[in-house]
Amino acid sequence: MIKVISFDLDDTLSDSQFDELIWRTEIPKAYAEENHMDFDCAYAEVTKEYKNLWGKAQGNWRDASFWLKHFGLKTTWEDLLGKVQHEIKHFDDVIPVLENLSKRFKLIIVSNAERKFIDAKLKLNHIDKFFTKTYSASSDFNLKKKDAEVFQQVLKDFKIKPEELIHIGDDEEYDVKVPRSIGVQAFLLCRKKDKKADFYSLEAFKQHLDAL
Ligand SMILES: [Mg+2]
Repeated sequence: MIKVISFDLDDTLSDSQFDELIWRTEIPKAYAEENHMDFDCAYAEVTKEYKNLWGKAQGNWRDASFWLKHFGLKTTWEDLLGKVQHEIKHFDDVIPVLENLSKRFKLIIVSNAERKFIDAKLKLNHIDKFFTKTYSASSDFNLKKKDAEVFQQVLKDFKIKPEELIHIGDDEEYDVKVPRSIGVQAFLLCRKKDKKADFYSLEAFKQHLDAL
């Protein structure tokens, strides 16, 4: 029997426009302003450094505050959030599906995103109320990506067997192969409908659960 349903966050519940703006617009903009240079130069330097530290900064890599400090900027996470918070969006089917499923299952988030990003996204429309617990691979496990260790921890925390957990997300490797490798049922969701997936909406996933 299924007891817990685990959701990926980005491109599953919320789109990634907000993240794009933080990483590719707001941080380079702050870098440009504070270093008195034009945006294009700042963008080139900032994104080059993102690439340089990929795989070296572990969980920190996904932390905007780490980068602001790394670049020696005075701008804070709160400054960035204030500018682009209104760009956080959930897909249309998210609230009705979570409302329904939260009455039948414990719901959790298992995301690569850093804790502050998760909190900001779950605060919108108070969707945090639907979740019993959230797991950030970067903040809680110091990992670049969610690996089996994160899902093992979920099983341990909820004292459940792998077959009592379902995970859904948009990444073939980390949302599907990884959880399946430890016996957890996992489904691929593709919101853009541009590749073969198990589901193309959360509503269709809910209908699958209804039929179980
Ligand atoms: Mg995702």
